Amino acid sequence: MADQPDQQALDEVVEFTSDLIRIDTTNRGGGDCQERPAAEYAAARLAEAGLQPTLLERTKGRTNVVARIEGTDPSADALLLHGHLDVVPAEARDWSVHPFSGEIRDGVVWGRGAVDMKNMDAMILAVVRDWARSGVRPRRDIVIAFTADEEASAEDGSGFLAEEHPGLFEGCTEGVSESGAFTFHDGSGRQLYPIAAGERGTAWLKLTARGRAGHGSKVNRDNAVTRLAAAITRIGEHDWPLRLTPTVRAALTELAALYGIETDLADVDALLDKLGPAAALVEATVRNSANPTMLDAGYKINVIPGEAVAHVDGRYLPGAEGEFRATLDRLTGPDVEWEFHHREVALQAPVDSATYARMRAAVEEFAPEGHVVPYCMSGGTDAKQFSRLGITGYGFAPLKLPEGFDYQALFHGVDERVPVEALHFGVRVLDRFLRTA
Ligand SMILES: [Zn+2]
Repeated sequence: MADQPDQQALDEVVEFTSDLIRIDTTNRGGGDCQERPAAEYAAARLAEAGLQPTLLERTKGRTNVVARIEGTDPSADALLLHGHLDVVPAEARDWSVHPFSGEIRDGVVWGRGAVDMKNMDAMILAVVRDWARSGVRPRRDIVIAFTADEEASAEDGSGFLAEEHPGLFEGCTEGVSESGAFTFHDGSGRQLYPIAAGERGTAWLKLTARGRAGHGSKVNRDNAVTRLAAAITRIGEHDWPLRLTPTVRAALTELAALYGIETDLADVDALLDKLGPAAALVEATVRNSANPTMLDAGYKINVIPGEAVAHVDGRYLPGAEGEFRATLDRLTGPDVEWEFHHREVALQAPVDSATYARMRAAVEEFAPEGHVVPYCMSGGTDAKQFSRLGITGYGFAPLKLPEGFDYQALFHGVDERVPVEALHFGVRVLDRFLRTA
């Protein structure tokens, strides 16, 4: 039994990434997406490896794939390994290479989904096929899920699976998916590998101010536009207090140690200043946030409308939702109502777990020059939906990126691309982690 993926696995991860990019699964929201061809492609690759994938749809064409690999230890908890099949839109005219070409040029695979997250889907496929060839069986059961609709509401994807097919995930206690274990270059030669162990919650808000409609030339103390503008200003200018979750506390402590900075968690803003570029890994997750993003009121310049509406993109930390709500009540005041337009839970995963330690060890083995640190995602993933099944989610889709490849900028960005070498690293690290998990 080989202890590392074979050449075929290294070739296949590149081929599968490119093939999946060529299958256009653009998700424009509102149900405008077809994942089915990508799901059939993934299911066929799993079937070739002797697995029995199930295709599941809530809506025609919005296809999810689930398969289970039986582990050698039936008493062990199962591990969920999931990747979404849809991608965000891409405007071909802005790109150097057509975003759905999957072109491989100078050792780099180009296209929408190259880092988010057809790369990881391809890595999962390459690893399990390698195992089938070489007879590797993991200790734990591994449930593989390729999902639809992650880039919109997840209603046709992980939300649907968690709600209507919980039996497929029986025994799963932990999940692993996107947005972690990529190389973060700090600008001074250090390479960090952040592993996600938490996500902020989503609180997209609708604010409605009401007042007395009337002529724009008259005295009016009940102007809905004025009331809304005042509330929006208070929200936009609010200084949210520091709230350190266990993951962010661990991240700050480890980063401070790495950079030889005295850790003073009582003055986190000063600590962030001293961290330089690495502060980007934590600065969006030390507080709740609420950014006004949309305004809508009025229809004629000399008519005061009776109602004015705004939308706010709010995010709250694990354990801080109550405080978020109370703060919004206070900031909006008695004349403006607010409600959730869309709400998703915040997640917290332990960084002292055996699984976290195994992910860290797998990265350190293949990137000994790297420094693994935990972090909390500022946004969200399918892990939010799977958390309803009691599954703790980590972000671990390993990629070794050379300097100049800014993962965060490529994510949903123009000229999204991934080096072939990065995919090879990903397959090796994912294989090592899954074998030891
Ligand atoms: Zn993604």
